[in-house]
Amino acid sequence: MMIKRIAFKTLGCRLNQFETDSVATDFHSAGYEIVNFNEKAEVYVINTCTVTGQGDHKSKSAINHALRNSPDAVIVVTGCMAESRKDELEMLEGINYIVDNKRKGRIFDLVHSHFNGTASRVEDLTPDVFGFSAAVRGLHTRNLIKIQDGCDNFCTFCIVPHVRGRAVSRPSGDVLGNIRRVLDAGYREIVLTGVNISRYNDAGIGFESLIEKILGLEGLFRLRISSVEPDGFSKHFYHLFAHEKLCPHLHICLQSGSDRIISAMGRNYTLSAFMGMVNELKGRYPLFNLTTDIMVGFPGETDEDFRQTCNIIRDVGFSHVHTFKFSIRHGTKAERMSGQIPGRIITGRSRIIREISDANKMAYRRMLLDRKQVVLVEKTDHNGYARGYGEHYVPVAFLNQNAENNRFYRVMLQGIRKGSGDMIMEGVCEGGLR
Ligand code: SF4
Repeated sequence: MMIKRIAFKTLGCRLNQFETDSVATDFHSAGYEIVNFNEKAEVYVINTCTVTGQGDHKSKSAINHALRNSPDAVIVVTGCMAESRKDELEMLEGINYIVDNKRKGRIFDLVHSHFNGTASRVEDLTPDVFGFSAAVRGLHTRNLIKIQDGCDNFCTFCIVPHVRGRAVSRPSGDVLGNIRRVLDAGYREIVLTGVNISRYNDAGIGFESLIEKILGLEGLFRLRISSVEPDGFSKHFYHLFAHEKLCPHLHICLQSGSDRIISAMGRNYTLSAFMGMVNELKGRYPLFNLTTDIMVGFPGETDEDFRQTCNIIRDVGFSHVHTFKFSIRHGTKAERMSGQIPGRIITGRSRIIREISDANKMAYRRMLLDRKQVVLVEKTDHNGYARGYGEHYVPVAFLNQNAENNRFYRVMLQGIRKGSGDMIMEGVCEGGLR
């Protein structure tokens, strides 16, 4: 029997990436060959994003690409755009299945029955937001673990609660079981993911307790908390970062440096509370890496609001700022707000933030010079260069002809190479860890 090929395209956040990795694992285990999205395949899965207008645009381009290149293939569209723009997608000829987020974990069953001639309907699949296999055939070195889904915040600009539903937490036993499986499969870095993970609560087991349980697992691995909302943390949370397995990096979504705009966004913190969290972290761990999301051009954002945002980005020294341009999301409160900002102003503000972010990135890397990082190697090349990320989430390259992928190496950082993409730190390898 001919081996079937399947290609995936993932747009948007790490949660989507986890879900693709899990679905890919199901197909891989059943003998499918996973190929690049540009190659010919019998099945294409496009896991879409709708968080901004740009997310919609990129998702549509990926769908059109698959429809054009392989008119005979089975095409599955899932993810947040499959929720928010289902009617529009149903008008497109050539899409076989539109799968909502709650049934995404069942895509393998759907495609399998399609080829068996027992085609089932999407609606007949049982919904389960945590019904995903452990992604032991992930597409990356770091293994993403879904611990939570949905959000109850309803920030005024955000469509996520409308397309992902209300907040739900995955049972802690399932989370730990999933992590045990991927560690046994050889993964060395675990990244927690969800929509609003700091609100994790499984029958009284909160986010901090879950982290403690994970840190208590046996084995040579490290844990990374990816993106959190600045909801406020206990003293104990800050203390957890003293554990050598917990990476000293947090992506805390600030969105704006103006209290007036933060309040109009419907978010639950003030700048002074945010700075309190920053000071706790930087006070205890001076090299702690903080990155953030900033939204520019929220309705009513004045030059003064924007100036305050620039100032706080400099003051905190975020080593990377992910800039979002505000775009109207249908059904959100911000859609009806006055004071919409012209596109050219939004583009100009976005460029300024990127410049500040680049300057911060360089300053942060300079602080790490002549210090050691433990690098998890993701790639090696024929010149003997190995590349990966240190625990502070900076990209590092070093020379070691014998370096192996997915292994930790202690590296002394000695330089910064400014490439076309990221600013890569260069170092001298002091040996591998077993
Ligand atoms: S916290 Fe706000 S921005 Fe984040 S997912 Fe929830 S509603 Fe959206």
